[in-house]
Order: sequence, then structure tokens, then C-alpha cells
Amino acid sequence: MSLLAIGSVAFDQIETPFGKSDKIIGGSGTYIAMAASYFTNQTKLVGVVGEDFRQEDLNMMQKHGINTEGVQIKKGEKTFFWSGRYHADLNTRDTLVTELNVLGDFDPIIPESYQDCEYLMLGNATPAVQKTVIERLHKRPKLIVLDTMNFWMEEAFISGLKEVIGMVDVVSINDEEARMLSGEYSLVKAAKKIMAMGPKYLIIKKGEHGALLFSDEQIFFAPALPLEDVFDPTGAGDTFAGGFIGHLASTKDISFENMKRAVIYGSAMASFCVEQFGPEKLIELTADELEGRVQEFIDLVQFEIEYN
Ligand code: AMP
Repeated sequence: MSLLAIGSVAFDQIETPFGKSDKIIGGSGTYIAMAASYFTNQTKLVGVVGEDFRQEDLNMMQKHGINTEGVQIKKGEKTFFWSGRYHADLNTRDTLVTELNVLGDFDPIIPESYQDCEYLMLGNATPAVQKTVIERLHKRPKLIVLDTMNFWMEEAFISGLKEVIGMVDVVSINDEEARMLSGEYSLVKAAKKIMAMGPKYLIIKKGEHGALLFSDEQIFFAPALPLEDVFDPTGAGDTFAGGFIGHLASTKDISFENMKRAVIYGSAMASFCVEQFGPEKLIELTADELEGRVQEFIDLVQFEIEYN
């Protein structure tokens, strides 16, 4: 059993009401792999960085047991750069800069040692790259999960995005993106339209208001943990996705019932992510901290009704 994650490996510059970061490590692939590494020591990352990327950041991922053989380092080129500014509510943000750099013509190479992957997490990247990764795997993984963002729903990319959505099992997006992709305001109608594009399951993330998991017949709701301090939401969606697929891969169970638990594990991982700038908090979590957080989710929604 192994888990293949693809996505951006980036430099981010983040502004929140609490301060501004320098260029720090970020990227969808980074957050996914870091989160998944708490569930399986078989996490393999595919991505691309420029010559300016720091070896110490790759070392940090390797220390987490992440295989970075599939991360290409492009000589003389620059790493993908993203900069964003959060509004006072921390639920909405403006993208200030997206410099694709090495991501612009990224040709994902899948090392032979990655070909055994059973769980594939397609993190935020160009839809063409996401599709190429599926096509380059000799055997279709047991489960393919796709995360994307509004950037790829623009005119130039939308048909490619719809095509790759048709090739996956689970799509994970936020409420604003679900509305944009479906043209429906109601999330229930949006879910039906998106699942009609191919995936059997859809996750709609609602930031501090939790997440919804849809199948044809069922809907599950997971709250977000009310946190005293939210410092920086960057990467929360990717961290959620890494925790979600990490739990499924480690339990080898892709039933809807287990996906419900996976949504809770993903939400717990995301709750840690937002407590510090960038992926900092994901570097040194303990298994006890994670289990403690999952218990907080259980306690949060547990109640009994007595009928006389
Ligand atoms: P999230 O907060 O979960 O939406 O993810 C934020 C991460 O996505 C940041 O670390 C960025 O580097 C990365 N990111 C932002 N825009 C893009 C894009 N267009 N393609 C790939 N990754 C991106």
C-alpha cells in the first residue's frame, strides 16, 4: 500500500491580520504530503521546484518519511510562488501574486518505485498535469482524490478540469469553488451537478463551518473545531485532503462509513495547520495530539435525546 501525492511545492508569502511572512515553504503537494505522513510512512511526492528551493526544506520532508524522489529540481529556474492576503474574518482571501515559474511547463515524472501506488491524491496543479499523472500510472489506483481551486475554473482551463474530474473517485473543493464549478448556489444541487461529471463522492469544505461529504444517497456533515486562535488558514484545504486520504490509505477501507472518519481526521489535521504560519505546526505533531483532537471532534457533536 502506498500513497502518491502530487501538487505544487512552493514558496508562499502570506499576509494575515496578525502579520506578514517572508517567503516560506508552501504548496499543495507539501501540505498534502506532510499531513499524510502522520498516517502512513509510504507517502511519495511528485512535484517540481527551481534551483532556489532550499535543500533543508526537502530534508524536512524526508525526515517525515516522505519519498521525494519524484520532486524534480530545475536548474536555472524559479520555484512556483504564491502570495495571498487574508481578510479580517480569515475565511476569505485575495490572491496577490501567482508566479507559475517551474509549474508552468511541469512534466510530472513518476519514478518506477512509485508505480505500486494504491491511493492517489491529485493536489492543486494544472488539470493537464493531474491528468498526465493518472495516465502515467501503469495500473489505476484503488482510489483517486482530486483537489483544485478557482484559478483552474477560468475559461482557459475549465474544459481540462472537467475532463480530469471525470476520471477521479472523489473531488474535494470549497463552497465557493463548488458554486463556481456548478453554477448552482444550493450546495446540494451543486453536489449533484459535480457528481454527474463523474466522481462518486464530493467533499465541500466550508472553512470554519466544517465540511460536507456527499455520495449519491447520503450526506455527512463534519464540524470544524471552534479554535481560540486561528493564525493562518493557508494550506488548510490541502492538509485536510492529506489527512483524509492518509486515513483511508492506512486503514485500506474506502467505504462511505470510513470516509466519514477520514473527513474527521482531515478536519483535525487542518485544525492544527491553521494555528501557525505556513506548515510550521505540521512539522512536529505527535500521535497523542492528533488522537486528542479527534476526540474533541467526537465530544463536540455527541449528544443524547431522552424520550419518555
Ligand atoms: P489552500 O489554502 O489549501 O487553498 O492552499 C494554499 C496553497 O496552495 C499555497 O501553499 C500555495 O502555494 C498553493 N497554490 C496557490 N495557488 C495555486 C495554484 N494556482 N496551483 C497550485 N498551487 C497553488
